[in-house]
Amino acid sequence: MKLWEYMVRYDYEQLVLCHDSGVGLRAAIAIHDTTLGPALGGVRMWPYTSEEDALMDVLRLARGMTYKAAVAGLDLGGGKAVIIGDPLHDKTEAMFRSLGRFVESLGGRYVVTEDVGTTMCDMEYISTETAHVTGLPVSLGGSGDPSPITALGVHEAMKACAVEAFDSDSLKGKTVALQGVGKVGSYLAELLHKDGVKLIVADMDGDRAQRVKKKFDAEVVSVQDIYDVECDIFSPCALGATLNHQTIPRLHCRIVCGGANNQLEEEEDSFRLERKRILYAPDYVVNGGGIINLAQEFTGYREDVARDRTLAIYQTMQRVFARAKKERVTPAQAADRTAEERIQSVRQVRNLYRGSEGPTGR
Ligand code: NAD
Repeated sequence: MKLWEYMVRYDYEQLVLCHDSGVGLRAAIAIHDTTLGPALGGVRMWPYTSEEDALMDVLRLARGMTYKAAVAGLDLGGGKAVIIGDPLHDKTEAMFRSLGRFVESLGGRYVVTEDVGTTMCDMEYISTETAHVTGLPVSLGGSGDPSPITALGVHEAMKACAVEAFDSDSLKGKTVALQGVGKVGSYLAELLHKDGVKLIVADMDGDRAQRVKKKFDAEVVSVQDIYDVECDIFSPCALGATLNHQTIPRLHCRIVCGGANNQLEEEEDSFRLERKRILYAPDYVVNGGGIINLAQEFTGYREDVARDRTLAIYQTMQRVFARAKKERVTPAQAADRTAEERIQSVRQVRNLYRGSEGPTGR
């Protein structure tokens, strides 16, 4: 699809191409919607094989952030950045400082944080050039690693799913298949183990899977076989698009609820799950703990506040399921409607002239 057409169709505000030959920076920043507040989103570094892939990725991801922040009740919009390059070989301090200067030039409309291929250390480089950065180490007044809080949110979402599917939010005695036991997956495994859940895990990194097996008495299966195991809950905590027309028919579970971003390869997959009578917990609601944690940095980070707000994912999930039933749509559609409704209602409020603003603007 053509870029402008795509931006018009999904109502994007801005796409910025950044180039700094001196430091080898080729990057793009997409701002989808700032109705609720500054556009927050991570910078992804990836060896994209074409410019088109990079631009479509940054646009798609920025829009996802708008929905995630809106449904989490945060006063943040959606944005994202990508750097074209190999994170293992092409990274330099100068590259991230240069990106920091581009972020600064946007005057706070976009706030950057880490994502796939970037680290907290890269955010420190960015922070030397701009204040519009979050996800800094705790020692620098930041919120540190969001993974434990993200896992806490996934755990709450799972309990809300259990009420829907099993009439009780107790997970005791249930079997959960965990796809990916990296940062989020392993913290989640710990919470589920405490609940008395039987764990079946798979990870591309065999050592990680073995560590979880040892610590939490999990059964390990191969990454190919995880889709076929008998379980109550399938929990994608690896990379995106693992649920698609090929894998969904293989699932033997009642619930899909996990921390990974963009779990469904295409929109149709939410209907495929519904037809199989599998309850799908929309990913961006489930993994909202990460952004809720980051958002606390704007007001001075407090872990207790971040945790409390993350626990509310339980109620958000219940509202999404209730809406899905009432409006006879999938939970994914219900979550989208909830996010869009909030943005639309705040947009109307913003149309009011406040008096204290200048004659031309707000
Ligand atoms: P991570 O890199 O620490 O863990 C991902 C794990 O998945 C790795 O151990 C990797 O080996 C494994 N993996 C990759 N492909 C796999 C496959 N096909 N089958 C099985 N295992 C596979 O990443 P993370 O921080 O734990 O994030 C996991 C997911 O959650 C990502 O999609 C991320 O975007 C999303 N997420 C993370 C956070 C956070 O706070 N870290 C917040 C929101 C969303």
